[in-house]
Amino acid sequence: MTNLLFHNVEFCKSLYIVYLGLQILMLQFLIIMNKANLCYYICMKTLARFIQTKRNEMGYTQKGLAIAANISVDIVEEVEAGKELFLSVTVRQALAKALKCEPDEIKAFEKDIASAIVSPEIIESLKQLILNGAGGLKCPKCGAPLDTRIARMYDLEDNLILHPKAHCTKCPFQIHS
Ligand SMILES: [Zn+2]
Repeated sequence: MTNLLFHNVEFCKSLYIVYLGLQILMLQFLIIMNKANLCYYICMKTLARFIQTKRNEMGYTQKGLAIAANISVDIVEEVEAGKELFLSVTVRQALAKALKCEPDEIKAFEKDIASAIVSPEIIESLKQLILNGAGGLKCPKCGAPLDTRIARMYDLEDNLILHPKAHCTKCPFQIHS
């Protein structure tokens, strides 16, 4: 009898671990989709516009900019079409020099907008995982380990309410509910 009970408990535990694993996989999927979509729709469009505007201000054609920056015209075309997601340091510096701006100005368009937005689904999924006791969670913005905890609070009627909390060990990302 005790043996059977023990087996059942073990079985439930392994089921639970599988369940947590699936939740984490789902979260990672959401994070990837989040990054891909937002990069494409917001961030890269903005980078494209920034480069295009600067180029027009300087009076360059796409080819002219490529020559001035000593990079391939394909790169200029892809950046302006919103296809090139992140620039290499060399390309960024070359573009900045030709466009008479700081490399950091360009970099801001590459990265900050893409990582500034974490979708509500990801936040919700993270909250569930914290409540379920999943450990080793990673920040959806930068990938650094998340510090997580569950705050126990009581409402006016003395009901215990669990609030999942998290903050990133590296960047300003946090969940406070
Ligand atoms: Zn972070």
